Amino acid sequence: MAAIRIALVGIGKIARDQHLPAIAANPDFALTAVVSRVDPGLGAPYFPSLEALLAHGPVVDAVALCTPPQVRYGLAAAALARGLHVFLEKPPGATLAEVELLRTKAERHGASLFASWHSRHAAGVQGAKAWLAQRAIGSVRIIWREDVRLWHPNQAWIWEAGGLGVFDPGINALSIATEILSRPFFLTKATLFIPANREAPIAADLAFTDHESTPIVMDLDWRQTGPQSWDIIVETDAGALHLAKGGAVLTLPEGEQIGEDREYPSLYARFAALVRARESEVDVAPLRHVADAFLRGRRVTVDAFVD
Ligand code: NAP
Repeated sequence: MAAIRIALVGIGKIARDQHLPAIAANPDFALTAVVSRVDPGLGAPYFPSLEALLAHGPVVDAVALCTPPQVRYGLAAAALARGLHVFLEKPPGATLAEVELLRTKAERHGASLFASWHSRHAAGVQGAKAWLAQRAIGSVRIIWREDVRLWHPNQAWIWEAGGLGVFDPGINALSIATEILSRPFFLTKATLFIPANREAPIAADLAFTDHESTPIVMDLDWRQTGPQSWDIIVETDAGALHLAKGGAVLTLPEGEQIGEDREYPSLYARFAALVRARESEVDVAPLRHVADAFLRGRRVTVDAFVD
C-alpha cells in the first residue's frame, strides 16, 4: 500500500520531539514537506506557509498540525477544503464550535479528521479503563502539578487567550479521565488563578461529579518545583488505582505495571488506520470540560508571572 504523503506544520517542541521520529519510524507515512515560519533545516521540502505548500508544493495526502491551538482552525479548514486528511494536535481547537465545523468539513470533503489525545495512548490507560470497568468507583483525585518554566519556557501563546494556560497540560489529565471513567461527569465548581500580567491561568482547583454523585477533584498547578506530579487516583470497592507519570505507570492493588512509551507511534498508527478507512475520530469531551471551567470558574488574580 502506498505511503501516506504527509506535511508537518509548525516545527516546535512537539513536532521535533515526537512527530518527526514517529513519522520516520512508520512505513505508512512519508514526510513530504514541512511548513514553518523559518526554514527548520530538516531536509524535507520546506514552505513558509500552508498556503505556499498547497499552491506550489509536492502533492500531499495529509497534514499534521503542531501549531498553537489559536491558529489551528484556519490551517485545518484550508487542508480539508483540498480533501487532505488532518491530524490535529491537542487541544483540537481554540473553541468547541470550530472543531464541530471542522468535523462537518471533513465529512463534506471525504477526508479523515483526527483529534488526537496523546495521553490516552499512554501505557497504563487502557489497563486502567479495563480494571475500572469491573469496579464501583468511590472517588477520583487528579493531581497535575508541574514547573511551567521547565516544560513551557518562553511559550507566549500558551499564556494568551485560547492558549489554555495550565489547562494545556491539564487537558491531558481530562483526556485520560474521560477515557477511563465509564460514566460521564460534569463540572460543579472551579477556581482559576490568573497571573496579573497574563490572560490564562497558572493554577486551577476544580470539582466534578456524575449522576451517582461521585466526587472528582482536580488540582492543576504550574508553580510546582521539585518532584512533578501527573497522577490520577481512583478509590474503588476493590482498592485504589493509581495512574502516575501522565498515564505511563499503572498501580493496582495487585501490583505495578510499567509499559513501553509508545504514545506518538500509537497515534500515528491510529491516524493511518483512519485515513485508510476514510473515517474520522473527534472526541471533544476533554475540551468541553476546559470550556466549562472557563465558563463556570471563579477568577482570582495572583502574582504576575515572568518566564
Ligand atoms: P511550540 O514549541 O511553541 O511550537 C509551536 C510551533 O507552531 C512554533 O514553533 C511555530 O512553528 C508554529 N506556530 C505557528 N503559528 C504560531 C504562533 N502564532 N505562535 C507560536 N507558534 C506558532 O509548542 P509545542 O509545545 O510544540 O506545542 C504545540 C501544540 O502541541 C500545542 O497545542 C500543545 O498543546 C501540543 N503538545 C505539546 C506537547 C509538549 O510537550 N510540548 C505535548 C503534546 C502536545 P514554526 O516556527 O515552525 O512556524
